[in-house]
Amino acid sequence: MRLTRLIPIAAVFLAAGAHAQAPGSSAEQTAPVPNPASIDSAADPCTDFYQYACGGWLASNTIPADRASWGTGEMLRERNRAVLRGILDHAADNGAQRSPIEQKIGDFYFSCMDEGTINARGYDSLKPELARIDALADKPAIREEMPRLHRQGVDVFFEFGSETDLKDSNQRIGEVDQGGLGLPDRDFYLNQDAKSEQIRKGYLDHVQKMMQLIGESPETAAASAKAVIAFETLLAKHSLDRASRRDPDKIYHKLPVTELAKLCPFIDWPAFFEAVGAPKMNSLNVDHPDFLSGLDAAIAATSVADLKAYLRWHLVHNQAVLLSQPFVDEDFAFYSRTLRGVRELGARWKRCVDSSDVALGDALGQKYVDATFGAEGKQRTLDMVHKIERQMSANLGALDWMTPATRKEALVKLEAIANRIGYPDKWRDYSTLHIARDDFAGNSTGAAQYAVARDLQKIGKPVDRAEWPFTTPTVNAGYAPDENSINFPAGILQPPLYSNQSDDAANYGAGGAIIGHEVTHAFDDEGRKFDAHGNLRDWWTKTDADEFQKRAQCLVDEYAKFEAVPGLHVNGTLTLGENTADLGGLRIAFLALMDVLKTRPSAAVNGYTAEQRFFLSYAQAWCQLQKPQMTSMMTGTDPHAPPRFRVNGVVQNMPEFRKAFSCSAGKPMVAGPACRIW
Ligand SMILES: [Zn+2]
Repeated sequence: MRLTRLIPIAAVFLAAGAHAQAPGSSAEQTAPVPNPASIDSAADPCTDFYQYACGGWLASNTIPADRASWGTGEMLRERNRAVLRGILDHAADNGAQRSPIEQKIGDFYFSCMDEGTINARGYDSLKPELARIDALADKPAIREEMPRLHRQGVDVFFEFGSETDLKDSNQRIGEVDQGGLGLPDRDFYLNQDAKSEQIRKGYLDHVQKMMQLIGESPETAAASAKAVIAFETLLAKHSLDRASRRDPDKIYHKLPVTELAKLCPFIDWPAFFEAVGAPKMNSLNVDHPDFLSGLDAAIAATSVADLKAYLRWHLVHNQAVLLSQPFVDEDFAFYSRTLRGVRELGARWKRCVDSSDVALGDALGQKYVDATFGAEGKQRTLDMVHKIERQMSANLGALDWMTPATRKEALVKLEAIANRIGYPDKWRDYSTLHIARDDFAGNSTGAAQYAVARDLQKIGKPVDRAEWPFTTPTVNAGYAPDENSINFPAGILQPPLYSNQSDDAANYGAGGAIIGHEVTHAFDDEGRKFDAHGNLRDWWTKTDADEFQKRAQCLVDEYAKFEAVPGLHVNGTLTLGENTADLGGLRIAFLALMDVLKTRPSAAVNGYTAEQRFFLSYAQAWCQLQKPQMTSMMTGTDPHAPPRFRVNGVVQNMPEFRKAFSCSAGKPMVAGPACRIW
């Protein structure tokens, strides 16, 4: 299920655990931007700008034991967690004065914090479902059980939900997509290198341990785990790779519902849609039709016993964090330690804050906004957004490679971008969702069911443009091509990314570059395929499309040369959209700053000119330490390049940077020839 096809500024790992020390210290919030203490003055900015801007920071920070990475985003997330904890602690206090919203978030949080009750219950909450799976006698019975699991958010075999029709962006339609895997991507099953083999071994071991935790003997559990991986590998073989999935033309196949029976006759599709709770529909999008044929063959080739093992695994995997400590620990051991390199499980309260945000994000968000953001923050940010959009407009007008016909459409699209800042005008209503003070598993599955039902009810209805793709406290930002909107939740609009106390150079280099980045996504290799209304429609002349392609290839080649960890290169195609947005975004933020400086000139600070402070603030927003396991995993799955290249890969293409730091030709931070699209 997804609200919209969102392209975020960075991958978010809310579940990856949290930092143990007290966050949000006032020293951290008032540190100057850029921070001279973060600089490595022994480094040469023209040789390795990331090292120069972040070297001091990298040397004086360590990754907390309960995290896979540590940087600006993580610090902001810690700060937000502390604010949310205060709200939740207060709401959890079972007084008579609580509002209905406080009852929901407070009791949810209380039930999550009540480890005694949770541990005493073991996996009781799963037992009725496990008994149902045990009783399934044949494949038709498995077929009938499937929608029941989907209704709880356990997406076995494939994914089903609603989405905005890519070619009619006012309409929500049904969507069947590939899915059903336990590892983060199909490549984890298919890659033949030693590292992937090792992860698969770890996965096999993990599935076996989880099966033992739900009562299987070691021998049975080992057989179950083998069966699960064999079946998921069949699904992986028929899944589309991530780089291809960024091409909207490859994931749009609107078909009559009757066609589904030809692709995957095993499933009685109309019966499935009805049982899962979807409204009647005649057609829907099948992202990758080959997957359904592959699924049908995979089910035919697999025994009833093995398919039942697959269902058991996905049930326990989906709900592991709701169960007693052995389940939580085992889930952590594989998904956080093996896959991401995290050493320790985060404190319970942090995990409970995150769970509350997932389950009741709009209820919690209302309280968060009251505590942090307010109307003033919205106004200040909007002002910067408008200044940056004006620069993008001037920039489009001056581009030498674009013909007037395409330019005109591009300007119409830019003008039509919806700017969403801070928090939604309308909050989601949870009044029908029952939250009990003593039932964490029940509360969480109830919230998941509520979210699934809510998503499916949108099918066949007009798109609700008031809905947000993020919860309000989220530290992220994103562009949604299918609605042509940029989204900045209140959670990200804080120092050091934006502050009233910082000067223009700092605000434009950090926060302004993020705004520019999101605006540029409307014109990256994926975004450019959508029009002003968010419809997938080709508005480019052939000449302009070819010119775009030529320039984009320059970035693909540049980033493919970067090594994420020794021996593992960045995927230039997977990261193309983000790299385009980083480069275009920093450039238009710089132009906007130059415009502001005309009326508000700025003297040097700590020996750095405004231009230098702009680039330093940009780079320092990306200072980040990351576990090598995490970097390896992200290189295969994340459309963003590692932070070092988000800085160096961009500045080496900018004559403005070269000038600001007086870099001579031939230096590593002076690319020749430089890439430029926007
Ligand atoms: Zn992005």
